[in-house]
Amino acid sequence: MGRGLNISVAHRQNRGLLLRMILQNPRISRAKLAEMTHLTPASVSNITGALIKERYIQEIGTLDEIRSIGRRSIGLAIRNGHYLTVAVHMQRHQITIGLGHLDGSVTHLTHLAVSDHPFPEELAQNIGAVIKDLVRERRESHIVGIGVGASGIVDTAAGTIYASLAYDWQHVAWAALLSRETGLSVVMDNNARGMALAEMLFGGSTQSSWLVFLFAGQGIGLGVLADGQVFGGGNGIGGELGHITINWKGEACWCGNVGCLETYLNQAHIESLLHVGDGETIKTALQRSYQRGTYYDIIDVVATALVAVVNMYNPQVIVLGGWIADVWPLMEDEVQQQVKRRTRFWNEPALEIRSSSFGSEVGIHGANAVALGKWVYGLGGRWEQTPADDGLDAPEETF
Ligand SMILES: [Zn+2]
Repeated sequence: MGRGLNISVAHRQNRGLLLRMILQNPRISRAKLAEMTHLTPASVSNITGALIKERYIQEIGTLDEIRSIGRRSIGLAIRNGHYLTVAVHMQRHQITIGLGHLDGSVTHLTHLAVSDHPFPEELAQNIGAVIKDLVRERRESHIVGIGVGASGIVDTAAGTIYASLAYDWQHVAWAALLSRETGLSVVMDNNARGMALAEMLFGGSTQSSWLVFLFAGQGIGLGVLADGQVFGGGNGIGGELGHITINWKGEACWCGNVGCLETYLNQAHIESLLHVGDGETIKTALQRSYQRGTYYDIIDVVATALVAVVNMYNPQVIVLGGWIADVWPLMEDEVQQQVKRRTRFWNEPALEIRSSSFGSEVGIHGANAVALGKWVYGLGGRWEQTPADDGLDAPEETF
């Protein structure tokens, strides 16, 4: 374990908080930072001084705001370029790998095709080869580590993919495998949790710390941020909305439960309901059956999922990804009305429901957010003890 353990938790949190404020308020002054965070001006000055030296942030000229002693104050902004993450988004049939930047942007994307039942060691080697090439070309930068967003049940603390329907995996020590291939530290989480973090850090909900991301693909993913922190439960299963029963006389689900929401809301089921043909998308098929029987069936099940989310987590905002985001403009009014009616006692102040700020790229932004959340922005409370965290990562802590 590295030097990081000597840094007090409070100090780490203050540093992360200041970095988040600077990320979300470019050109902010030190005085404004102190006002917004309630840290003393001396602390702000100390920590930002160290962050400039370590090249996380930079000064960007003077602001119009005049300080009381008459000097113009200097703006601060996140500095891209020196620190990079490697973002890895794992989904059925495709893995996306890219370089993540401190401001949330992701560049140099590579897509790898994945077979139906990939061997973990072989897949880790293939991903490792791509990563080694990416990193080799970036010798002037400091690679903070690898952030992984994976579908399925991810035990973040153990660095294990506990169960993945997409890859037919159980108990795969994925963080250790990827770390062995690359020599880099690895932090991983369920992909929907990464997506939620990306929306709060870099997306359209930077003011909302109670946020839920609902991803609907072949499976249903739910990422919950409770007061700005990732909610995962005891070992990563917390928030598995897709496996709550909505019909106790329903069909058996792969998870062992019956009548799971996921069996009604997964993409393949919706496609069969809508008789999606060759070359057609759920969106065009839904347009075809707009405001007819099947349309209302789909509205009902989407609203049922959202009502469950409201009742369980009372979020300020629900962000949608996957096929629901694609068709959201077609169903928004009907679903909103139904959710309002079915949560009428606690629906004030108005809940915001919207589609993702990152469109179909949300997964790779989520993987970057998992890495930056842990190693830069101080949101990695539950990731602190991951076994792959061997100290290689520890950005310089000089105070
Ligand atoms: Zn299930």
